[in-house]
Amino acid sequence: MKLGIIRCMQTEDFCPGTTDFTVVREKRGAFEGIDEDIHLVGFISCGGCPGKKTVLRARELVKRGADTIAFASCIQKGTPMGYPCPFAQKMREIVQAEVGNAVQIIDYTH
Ligand code: SF4
Repeated sequence: MKLGIIRCMQTEDFCPGTTDFTVVREKRGAFEGIDEDIHLVGFISCGGCPGKKTVLRARELVKRGADTIAFASCIQKGTPMGYPCPFAQKMREIVQAEVGNAVQIIDYTH
């Protein structure tokens, strides 16, 4: 799996993404049960509210080899602040439309 992770820009001040890297490395959370190696091709923020830049950033991750895009848990689950993104569903829709169905979307990392 070649993985690109998109995270919440608002959460960057609070969280360096440590758990995301851990669950990818240890194949836990959303990555449990994946047999193949996981190569992280990029880890980038949404670009700020309302998340329209996710389209550009997902496109770039795919251009750089990503076959899977994961939204970090800060977006849909609101971790670690307890503040889920109000634009999460729309972001997912526009990213999927941009990258096509050949690219797998994962809704959270852990
Ligand atoms: S659009 Fe959502 S994910 Fe991006 S900074 Fe705003 S709240 Fe965070």
